[in-house]
Amino acid sequence: CGIIGIVGKEAVADRLVDGLRRMEYRGYDSAGVCTIHDGELVRRRAEGKLNNLVVELAANPAPGNVGIAHTRWATHGAPTAKNAHPHATPFVALVHNGIIENFKELRAELADAGRTLESDTDTEVVVQHISWLVEQGKSPEEAVGEVLPRLRGAFALAIAFRDHPGILIGARRGSPLVVGYGEGETYIGSDALALAPLTQQITYLEEGDWVVIDHDGATIRDEANEPVERQVQTSGASA
Ligand code: GLU
Repeated sequence: CGIIGIVGKEAVADRLVDGLRRMEYRGYDSAGVCTIHDGELVRRRAEGKLNNLVVELAANPAPGNVGIAHTRWATHGAPTAKNAHPHATPFVALVHNGIIENFKELRAELADAGRTLESDTDTEVVVQHISWLVEQGKSPEEAVGEVLPRLRGAFALAIAFRDHPGILIGARRGSPLVVGYGEGETYIGSDALALAPLTQQITYLEEGDWVVIDHDGATIRDEANEPVERQVQTSGASA
């Protein structure tokens, strides 16, 4: 299972799939991508091998220069296309590796608010809670900063926002996540290997960190939402 996200200057779908291929060794049961294009979230998902996603993308391309992608190792919900990530509302799309332990409590709150979920995963509550706040007028940073402290369990996350097409947000607790720096492009990924064809300039996020990436770089905050500096290293991973 793995995560990759690109805020790019050029089309990202092929590069996202390439990043997923570089994490195939971790194992997975389904895969998906979501890009932002013409003011819409464009989501493509497929059960089984990455080639099924490639076939899906050939039939239904996902254009756009900003996007997230995921290979899933199911923990909650069968390994079907419906449960494959990204999970999304019309406003927010999200990929997750790990387990949200308190998803039942978070799902009950959504049900009370009349929000309907479409998957059987533990993950979908996270995108629904973030979207709920965004729909109330909160910024992506405010929404993520409010929801992350409510999550129990382990996660690496990458999140895209329809109305903020120049950023992605990543977060890690218990699962690794790295930031990669390019020329007018910035990346997030589960490991340096996934980003190796894109960049060797890497920051390893620390436990509890979350990050906003844009075309110019990254703003990292710690678990208390305080801005922090993390070292940039040259990774030894080869492209
Ligand atoms: N718990 C999530 C799910 O079952 C994420 C699994 C993963 O790490 O890929 O969908």
